[in-house]
Amino acid sequence: MSNWVEASVKDIVWWTDTLFSLIVNADVEPFKAGQFTKLSMMMDEKRIARAYSYVNAPSSPDLEFYLINVVDGLLSQQLAKLKPGDTVMIESRASGFFTIDEIPASEQLFMLSTGTAIGPFLSILEQPDVWQQFKHITLVHGVRLNADLSYQAKIAQLQQQYPQLSYLPVVSREQAIVGLDGRITDRIADGTLFKHCDSVVSPQNSQFMICGNPQMVKDTSALLTEQGYTRNRRREPGQITVEQYW
Ligand SMILES: Cc1cc2nc3c(=O)[nH]c(=O)nc-3n(C[C@H](O)[C@H](O)[C@H](O)COP(=O)(O)OP(=O)(O)OC[C@H]3O[C@@H](n4cnc5c(N)ncnc54)[C@H](O)[C@@H]3O)c2cc1C
Repeated sequence: MSNWVEASVKDIVWWTDTLFSLIVNADVEPFKAGQFTKLSMMMDEKRIARAYSYVNAPSSPDLEFYLINVVDGLLSQQLAKLKPGDTVMIESRASGFFTIDEIPASEQLFMLSTGTAIGPFLSILEQPDVWQQFKHITLVHGVRLNADLSYQAKIAQLQQQYPQLSYLPVVSREQAIVGLDGRITDRIADGTLFKHCDSVVSPQNSQFMICGNPQMVKDTSALLTEQGYTRNRRREPGQITVEQYW
């Protein structure tokens, strides 16, 4: 049973024509970094609700979500119209198991994201205890255009705080200004995505969290499976943990 509470919009930050961050304040239950909640609005007397991952650290009073204004998207188009002082409904209790306590400790952790799915990783990286579980973390962000690489200041601040954090943009529709060209799957297949790592990346020393576009999640999981990695399940720990956004 959903427990909807009112959230007051504090700010809305536009990164590009279609990508924005929504910052709200609301009295929600505690959540774990990596989890998502739901935002909803009433349309024609019907509640339209969608899942959104928390970007902020669980300790922050400002609740932040990173969204794309989907063409003809039922809810995202309305959320994109919000202004400071407006209200939106938020599900008080967070959900999901895309959290660090579900991942076995290992030398390396690869956080593979497309588009808005970098959000949960930013929340996880705000938690200092993630570094007790992993020696080195690589945050990979697959986008179409260089301009879609939002949160540069936050990522730079995290890298300054944690030099063991590598950041690798992968840009598919133009030449990458920073990072790699193409798709995440292609750069895993040709080995360039692992080139910056000190040791050989193997199922013995690496974990993969994969989030975002369902095709990327499926293709990357299949590729890693071919390379000897297995799905991480509570009863049968492995190296691939996924969350699909649609
Ligand atoms: C666990 C979970 C967490 C999520 N977290 C986020 C988040 O943090 N930020 C976010 O923007 N969305 C997130 N989503 C997707 C979100 O719930 C909605 O599907 C999205 O906002 C579109 O809703 P809509 O009503 O506007 O579009 P709808 O009318 O429901 O249309 C859905 C279509 O929109 C497209 N779409 C949905 N999400 C995305 C996306 N993120 N990027 C590109 N295309 C998309 C797909 O083609 C999909 O078929 C998450 C989904 C899940 C399941």
